[in-house]
Amino acid sequence: MMIEPKFKKINEDVKTFKDLEDDIIKSNLCCACGACIAYCESQSFDVIEMQNYTPKFKSEKNAENCTECGVCYFICPQTSPLLDKLNQAYCVEDEIGQVLKILAAKTTNKTIGNVGQDGGIVSTILTYLFDEHMIDAAIISECDENFEPIPKIVYDKNDLLKSAGTRYSISSQILPLKELYDLSEEILEKLGVHEVDQLRLAFVGTPCQCRALSKMKLMHIKPAHIIKYIIGLFCFENFNYSQLYEIIKKETKVPPTDIKKTWIKKNFFFKTKEDKEFEIDIKTLDPAVRNHCHECDEFTAKFTDISVGASGAPKGYSMIILRTENGVNIIKQLLSRGFIEQLIIDKLSEWNITKINWFKKLISLKTKR
Ligand code: SF4
Ligand code: SF4
Ligand code: SF4
Repeated sequence: MMIEPKFKKINEDVKTFKDLEDDIIKSNLCCACGACIAYCESQSFDVIEMQNYTPKFKSEKNAENCTECGVCYFICPQTSPLLDKLNQAYCVEDEIGQVLKILAAKTTNKTIGNVGQDGGIVSTILTYLFDEHMIDAAIISECDENFEPIPKIVYDKNDLLKSAGTRYSISSQILPLKELYDLSEEILEKLGVHEVDQLRLAFVGTPCQCRALSKMKLMHIKPAHIIKYIIGLFCFENFNYSQLYEIIKKETKVPPTDIKKTWIKKNFFFKTKEDKEFEIDIKTLDPAVRNHCHECDEFTAKFTDISVGASGAPKGYSMIILRTENGVNIIKQLLSRGFIEQLIIDKLSEWNITKINWFKKLISLKTKR
């Protein structure tokens, strides 16, 4: 028996999940952010799911139940609808986006400094937001026992340290949003709220993931409305998890289960749990680069409150780009209370211009590849 869709497509011009499959997913442009699924499931349409980093209809029956609302197509970071409005909302006029302030800084928190990557800025920001009761939770990514990044909602600052460090394979960072409406009353009570809509979250992700979330916020789509702070991570490219660790194992005989830390400084480096360090020529990893990254023109996460990354910063520091007043205020508070330390620069305005031009050059190199 054929199941009739609950709602018929009102406007034939509205693009739906089938178009998302044709335009983005089958063209290998999907960055597996999970925004389409998070929205669909949170609205109880619940017809699509993530299968091995690929969004799919759960079944043929589910495909027939798709309401063809088209929201998944709109919020996908890889589609063009809403991009002009997003650029306007974030005052983006060029490839680097709005820069209210740019600085290099590092954490003064020794525990974070010891486990964090580079300046430990993201962990310090999130810790501060928790301590000051400015957020109830944060969406971060954590590595499982196979060193595969998994998206996670943390409700306690003590869980942040497990997420410290940089990953170079993608995690479906927006997917956890769909879990929020299933939170038990016990958890909500513990967090001091009556309903999910009262929660305040911070989100940490790659530029493409942040773009999806910003599109959702622009459309006032639930549950993105409870994300109060978006922190973007600089991102040059990302790898397919299985292919990346297959190459690494072939080159070094080290399985992902033995790895505790990875970083890129021109080449790819990793440290094992026995503290042995390995270096791999970055070009060796080219076959594992995700296809959508070849088409990506973002590096510094334009649609965020704060962008953070090691590129362009001296050793032990992170570069920070502040995009919104929200972002400016947090960093101002962290500096004035001594939680982070800014790199002292002579001729600051010249340094700012040099850094911005350097980022622009890097983005242009990236897009010309
Ligand atoms: S119901 Fe709407 S959000 Fe869900 S798959 Fe269909 S078009 Fe996309
Ligand atoms: S919203 Fe994200 S997961 Fe869904 S198709 Fe677009 S890029 Fe892929
Ligand atoms: S390079 Fe671009 S598309 Fe690839 S993960 Fe980074 S932000 Fe996303």
